[in-house]
Amino acid sequence: ITIAILKETEADEKRVAMVPAVISRLERQGAALTLEADAGKAAHFPDSAYKNVTIESDRTALLAKADIVLSVQPPPPDIVSAMKPSAILISQLYGTSHPRLVNALKERKITAFAMELIPRISRAQSMDVLSSQAALAGYYAPLLGAVHMPRIIPMMTTAVGSLRAAKVLVMGLGVAGLSALATAHRLGAITEGYDVRPETAEQAHSLGAKFVDTGVDARGEGGYARELTAEEQAQVEKVLTQHIAEADMIVTTASVPGRPSPRLISSAQVASMKPGAVIVDLGAEGGGNCADSKPGETITSGPATIIAPLNVPSALAQHASELYAKNILNLLGLVVKDGAIQLDFEDDVIAGTIAIHDGTIRNDALRKAIE
Ligand code: NAD
Repeated sequence: ITIAILKETEADEKRVAMVPAVISRLERQGAALTLEADAGKAAHFPDSAYKNVTIESDRTALLAKADIVLSVQPPPPDIVSAMKPSAILISQLYGTSHPRLVNALKERKITAFAMELIPRISRAQSMDVLSSQAALAGYYAPLLGAVHMPRIIPMMTTAVGSLRAAKVLVMGLGVAGLSALATAHRLGAITEGYDVRPETAEQAHSLGAKFVDTGVDARGEGGYARELTAEEQAQVEKVLTQHIAEADMIVTTASVPGRPSPRLISSAQVASMKPGAVIVDLGAEGGGNCADSKPGETITSGPATIIAPLNVPSALAQHASELYAKNILNLLGLVVKDGAIQLDFEDDVIAGTIAIHDGTIRNDALRKAIE
């Protein structure tokens, strides 16, 4: 079987779906690899690093031969007509936001794996791109914040006296938030974490952070949070206002599946912050966790600087691509058996991740949104 690695076309996407270090393991599964020329260049993997891989600069020729096509971002819909009918696409799909792509995949009877749909069960952890990419984004957030701060993070003793360590508050303690807490701790900050799932308290403690207990328990389905009621929202706000006002940096990472980013910081709370304080809003993709955030921009709002970065994993393209590629390798382990493609729809991971197959949308939420 032939696996093609696409060059990403979306502006600001530096990642690539497969990296040289993982190629030999794919070959052992019986695959021949073709790389679109320069596909790894932005992630600092030159074509020459891909050993035993055919380099193809003509995208149409690349797609015509491929049984499986790999991509990071949902590819442009026009690639689908160049794919073999019944071939496989493995990519992030976010189908509800890409209806033209979904329809093209249906028409061409492509089997489309949507990597964001990998079930969040133990067995599939090694394939979970949301987690692998969120861990990196969370790591990076305090670094981004640090370079926008007019002060240092660790305590420093100098000949003229000591500088106090910065207080970093992380709101939302999922994969990204815990990773952010770890970075802030390593930088020497005094750290605090907050989430609406009470089980995160222990996780925060294990990373050297205090937990801000608001008394609200909003555990939802599948280990995720649910939206807060207005009453809960008011209770949370009362407790958090003080912590927001005392923070030198806040990293927000809160998200509720399928909903816009929950608002965790109001304009009034921003106005109450210390002069020079920084907010890094990782909820920017879903509209932002802070009322004043401008997704994709860094702005000042009253006393604070608010950074609301988009596609943070792309800034760490080399490592983000490596983890993404390993996630794909592990998924392919379920798809390619003895050098042939075998789709076992009895397997929860396969069944849950294939969004489109044989002209039909298999994912309920996507079907409802599109049809
Ligand atoms: P996420 O990106 O959906 O949300 C990030 C965090 O925001 C979550 O911790 C959530 O509780 C929190 N949040 C939501 N609304 C909030 C609010 N109003 N105020 C404060 N915080 C709020 O979550 P995630 O990081 O993808 O993962 C969440 C959970 O899923 C974790 O428990 C994680 O361990 C689990 N998980 C399991 C697997 C697996 O078993 N394969 C994989 C990934 C994640």
